[in-house]
Amino acid sequence: MIDWKQINTVLLDMDGTLLDLNFDNHFWKEFVPLKYAEKHGISIVAAKQQLEPQFKSMEGKLEWYCLDYWSDVLALDIAGLKAEIAGLIAVLPHVTEFLEKIRQSPKRVLLVTNAHRDSVDLKMEKTCLQPFFDEIISSHDFGLPKEQPDFWERLQQQHAFEKQSTLLIDDSLAVLNSARQFGMAYLISVSRPDSKQPKKETGDYPAIEDFRELMSGL
Ligand SMILES: [Mg+2]
Repeated sequence: MIDWKQINTVLLDMDGTLLDLNFDNHFWKEFVPLKYAEKHGISIVAAKQQLEPQFKSMEGKLEWYCLDYWSDVLALDIAGLKAEIAGLIAVLPHVTEFLEKIRQSPKRVLLVTNAHRDSVDLKMEKTCLQPFFDEIISSHDFGLPKEQPDFWERLQQQHAFEKQSTLLIDDSLAVLNSARQFGMAYLISVSRPDSKQPKKETGDYPAIEDFRELMSGL
């Protein structure tokens, strides 16, 4: 699928790529509505109806990934709620094997996520993946989400990499599209970001179901 000899830098997304998106899906679609319903004395169904359009309207924007934003808007302690169900945070199958293998190569490996620093810290604490990365970058540091091609420009200015020898693996098609627009040469999608959901559409990007598919030649 990939000629590893051509790749010097690997950019890896976190949620839905390395970590099971089931945690985030469960958190936003079930746990937050439950807590919101409790707080306002309404049914869970009513809470979901109120929250869904609010979530929808923020998709692809940096605020969507900002715990402080949602804590303010919903008057809930979002970081605290995440910590409450942190037991559900899980690494996707074969990710650790892949990271161990790539760590032994001279390639530079960066975690590049839209997640807020508090989420990143909680997830690194739970999964112990931190030592596998040369750097961990949150798009909040640049004030732009990965869905905007300018994000990659800024990332390149601060963490010099060659477009022609860089691979991005990300489960979001909007993110892959923006990286393609920027000119990133190697793009791979993830077809099974949530272990509890069926495989998803990956557009015209080569896709992996799990990381074993990328281990040969590495
Ligand atoms: Mg993702």
